[in-house]
Amino acid sequence: MEINHRSGMKAENQRHILNLINKHPSFRAALATELGLTQAAVSLLTEELIQDEIIGPAEIGAAGPMVGRRPEILDIRADWGAIVGISIDRSQVTIGIVDLKGNAITENTLLPVKEDYEDTIRQIGSAVKKMLAQMKGQIHFVIGAGVAIPGPMDLKSGSILEPPGFPASWYHLPIAVLLEKQLGFPVYAEHNSRALAQAEICLGAGERYSHFMILNVNAGIGSGLVLNGKVYTGAHGIGCEIGHMSVERGGRICFCGRRGCLEQYASAAAVLHEVNRICPDIHTWTELIDRAYNGNQICCDFLEQAASYFGEVIRNVMSLCDLEAVFFTGQIAYRGELILKLIREKAQKNAVAQMGKLPEIALSSIPGNPYLVSSASILIYKLYNQPLFFYEKNIERKKGKE
Ligand SMILES: [Zn+2]
Repeated sequence: MEINHRSGMKAENQRHILNLINKHPSFRAALATELGLTQAAVSLLTEELIQDEIIGPAEIGAAGPMVGRRPEILDIRADWGAIVGISIDRSQVTIGIVDLKGNAITENTLLPVKEDYEDTIRQIGSAVKKMLAQMKGQIHFVIGAGVAIPGPMDLKSGSILEPPGFPASWYHLPIAVLLEKQLGFPVYAEHNSRALAQAEICLGAGERYSHFMILNVNAGIGSGLVLNGKVYTGAHGIGCEIGHMSVERGGRICFCGRRGCLEQYASAAAVLHEVNRICPDIHTWTELIDRAYNGNQICCDFLEQAASYFGEVIRNVMSLCDLEAVFFTGQIAYRGELILKLIREKAQKNAVAQMGKLPEIALSSIPGNPYLVSSASILIYKLYNQPLFFYEKNIERKKGKE
């Protein structure tokens, strides 16, 4: 097969190579086997990626000094480009700069979300520019910015719609377009739960699993579903909203307009609210968990009740789609093993006639601050998963800058 231009099959194969190497630094021979190509073809494809400086020889590490000529293990070069991560939620904006391996190059900056959205966007713009100026010697190329926003959102236009708890002035705001005008480089918006799922695929458990769900448990419950290694967006971009799955018919009213939603019973805010009615001195989730670890029966009982709801929902999801794992992140991750142990027990109990295996139930393995890293992962995911477009576009931009 003759390969003579970057588009078409060649670009697609190079994207596959980046994907495989990102999961496991690999020898050329292993890549050839995986892709069903000859070693000579893989050498040509990888040579160009090495020249583009996006891949290079992996560090030998514990293998010791090289004796004779060894085949090279190829790995992603984390320093190929920097990504600005911006995570916007109800109370604050988290900003930082992350490399291709999800390492934070700079610590994150926090800003409040103000009713005056123009002022907040201006502040984000100047905070990012200041960060980039401080890192000038370390960063040669900015791939772009990923902005993680609460749902519901319009994926096509990168707009916030009407998320609960947000000032109405932010409703229907084309956040990606506005930030792009401020920053002067590409900005991509994504639903924060799907960004977490993308981070898990590119930098966490995606190495081991292709079918999993991530639950982000805070005041509400966000969820990202991964099927066949891809984040599920659904027919209308709504994806997966496990937090609004009904667990009590005719139960508590939810802001979504329906009754009995999971997040009214098992979110950190819902559990804390119930505990606080009996123990008014417990104000935060960390206090509640610390008390549970000290044997406070009320805290333990309410955690068990929440675990029971999660267990039931996990069993329902398993009967709908056969997952390998369910990951938890957010406030629930604080000393999370106690509630996870309860969730595993509840999910196990009466599992639907043991149809298939129960999924692994664990804390998320996204490195560092999950909100910063997941917002940057919006671009990392595009780089490895978007066919024929994203990598080449950035290589041209990068070469143009040098
Ligand atoms: Zn609801």
